[in-house]
Amino acid sequence: MDHFLYRDGQLMAEDVNIAEIAAQVGTPFYVYSTATLLRHFKLFDDALSGMDHLVCFAVKSLSNVAVLKLLGDAGAGMDVVSGGEYLRAKAAGVSGDKIVFSGIGKTREEMRLALEGGIRQFNVESEPEMEALSQVALSLNTVAPITVRVNPDVDAKTHAKISTGKKEDKFGIPISRAREVYAMAAKLPGLKVIGIDVHIGSQLTELEPFRLAYRKVAELTEQLRSDGHDITRLDLGGGLGIPYARDNNAPPLPREYGALIKEEVGHLGCEIEIEPGRLISGNAGLLVAKVIYVKSGEDREFLIVDAAMNDLVRPAMYDAWHDIVPVIEPAAGVDQTPYDVVGPICESGDTFAKGRMLPPLDPEALVGFRSAGAYSAVMSSEYNSRPLIPEVLVNGDQFAVIRRRPTFEDMINRDTIPEWM
Ligand SMILES: *Cc1c(COP(=O)(O)O)cnc(C)c1O
Repeated sequence: MDHFLYRDGQLMAEDVNIAEIAAQVGTPFYVYSTATLLRHFKLFDDALSGMDHLVCFAVKSLSNVAVLKLLGDAGAGMDVVSGGEYLRAKAAGVSGDKIVFSGIGKTREEMRLALEGGIRQFNVESEPEMEALSQVALSLNTVAPITVRVNPDVDAKTHAKISTGKKEDKFGIPISRAREVYAMAAKLPGLKVIGIDVHIGSQLTELEPFRLAYRKVAELTEQLRSDGHDITRLDLGGGLGIPYARDNNAPPLPREYGALIKEEVGHLGCEIEIEPGRLISGNAGLLVAKVIYVKSGEDREFLIVDAAMNDLVRPAMYDAWHDIVPVIEPAAGVDQTPYDVVGPICESGDTFAKGRMLPPLDPEALVGFRSAGAYSAVMSSEYNSRPLIPEVLVNGDQFAVIRRRPTFEDMINRDTIPEWM
């Protein structure tokens, strides 16, 4: 559910007319809904009520500082995967004790940054990382709280590029070796073992893989406790999927996911963390673009829009589907025709949709790509020297640009010509 609906024939973002934002900001741009972001965060928070818990928003899904502040002020913690994301969370006013640091390749500089600025825990993914973290912590006269990310070898039944919990994936340590790795962690003087971490993938549309993974984590908790480790926190990762197409079967609800968590690990008395990204931010965003030309090919019509794969790479990268909607509501009963919706970039992969049924659209018409809040603006690039596009946040009847469009000069002046040229 989201807050991008037609009213009086116009697509709105909450109570703001999208066409009005386009007139002020220019196209293309991203627009996010405050109400949707908060609603989705609250669904998770409520789903875990009755348990000691923290919902840590996966910053990588949508990392604009205004969005992080919105969620942080509502009580969310943050899950970060780089020093840059850590600093974004801090810039949004989130305190270090609500920031979790994930990722397989944390550098010593990133560890230092987080230990100095305050950190809730590091989710550690390998023995060499443990040794490095212990050394960095000792050099700062401190002790780093850690969980170890275990790889439960569970099939998340999602796109191969976003599966992370199978033994062939690069993430975590094999759960079969966990006891040995925890024994090693307990001996490192710069580390304090506090829990277990697991994250099996993204855009999961079934609960069963979560159940299998969490059951293994529960077993491991008991084993590690009997080995003498003080396991008080379980970080259960993110990954719950969203409906990308309106007529799709809806994935499980956060409420059902929360009930599963209680069933599988509730008896352990641990503090529970989850790290949802996509379900909070995905349907809270819309990419708005303008039709430049309608071009007739040999056997098809191309709708050439001013957004491109550098702005939204998901269709090119994951064959992802995004619903496309005209900003002016089509008249009831109007015939739809198939379009290949493409961007201006010099790559055939710059195709958002093939044979997509849409009402007839003319140049200058505005269209919205739905479900473009997660893994969308954050993955954009300046390929073809197209400046990054603005981000806009709507709240009720007000909106603000939360990342302005750089000028061509901004973009070009980042390059420098060496003096010897
Ligand atoms: C990407 C990621 C998440 C968020 O996944 P979503 O599918 O967006 O919920 C959470 N935790 C870790 C460790 C991740 O890598």
